[in-house]
Amino acid sequence: MSRSLLLSLSVLCVSTLRSQTPPPAPGSSAPSQNKLSVQWEELTAAEFKDAVTRAQGTCLLPIGIMEKHGPHLPLGNDLLNVRYVSLNAAQQEYAVVFPEYYFGQIAEAKQQPGTVAYSRRLQLELLQETTDEMARNGCKKIIIVNGHGGNNSLLPYFAQTQLDTPHDYVVYVQSIARSAPGEPQHKSERSTDMHAGESETSMSMIARPDLVHLDRAKQESGADLGRLKLPEGLYTGIWWYARFPNHYAGEGAVASRELGDFEAKTWINGVVQAIRAVKADQESLRLQNEFYERSKRPLETRP
Ligand SMILES: [Zn+2]
Repeated sequence: MSRSLLLSLSVLCVSTLRSQTPPPAPGSSAPSQNKLSVQWEELTAAEFKDAVTRAQGTCLLPIGIMEKHGPHLPLGNDLLNVRYVSLNAAQQEYAVVFPEYYFGQIAEAKQQPGTVAYSRRLQLELLQETTDEMARNGCKKIIIVNGHGGNNSLLPYFAQTQLDTPHDYVVYVQSIARSAPGEPQHKSERSTDMHAGESETSMSMIARPDLVHLDRAKQESGADLGRLKLPEGLYTGIWWYARFPNHYAGEGAVASRELGDFEAKTWINGVVQAIRAVKADQESLRLQNEFYERSKRPLETRP
């Protein structure tokens, strides 16, 4: 690798890191310079020890994806939004936030430009090695904060299979939760507002307004084509493509900052509550350890 390429790569890294520091969430105060950063990659080694202690071993692993988001949102939309939410939540209730991670499940968008779809083997291995490394560094309570609907089956499966061999840490999964009672009226059909539609676009208008091209939102259709006629409860992987081949579901054009502001606050608050609950949870690890011991000798397990 040439020196000039190395130099331009390191310049790129610096600008990437700088741009990921989130603007403060609506209603919160801006972080001051001398506070302990919540971002793993910004801490010195000595600060990292203090950070893990202050977080009581509670760390966040926000997970996004690289995929098309309609004609008007960036490929990294889910990563940008989930990091915005996680960083703001961790500033309210201290936790250490793992660097950018977007190695989830996105096979269903491989026909679209810019999608990065790793194999399922690698998705699971990388996630396991990442949480193992986090735990080796003192993160004994790991909250995977999901920002991508395509991970909705992967992450609970990953968490459940932590029971197959003993681990000295607990994996929790926090799902996407932007909606709540009392939110502003939606202008589009809620049941198909699923991907780059009104809700998600509104959220992006808060997290990264500079990357939302609202004027392009009608260039493609986000309508439900409903091309599969299968009974409810019968699943097949092509269902999403059958309904939304443009990888766009809903109407991004009717998004608003008002809805985004509400959804951002709701999501951030949900993660804050999760961090508090996880810090207070002393039962999960105790029960896991009991379970691992008993599973070695199932014939000795008494009812
Ligand atoms: Zn998305």
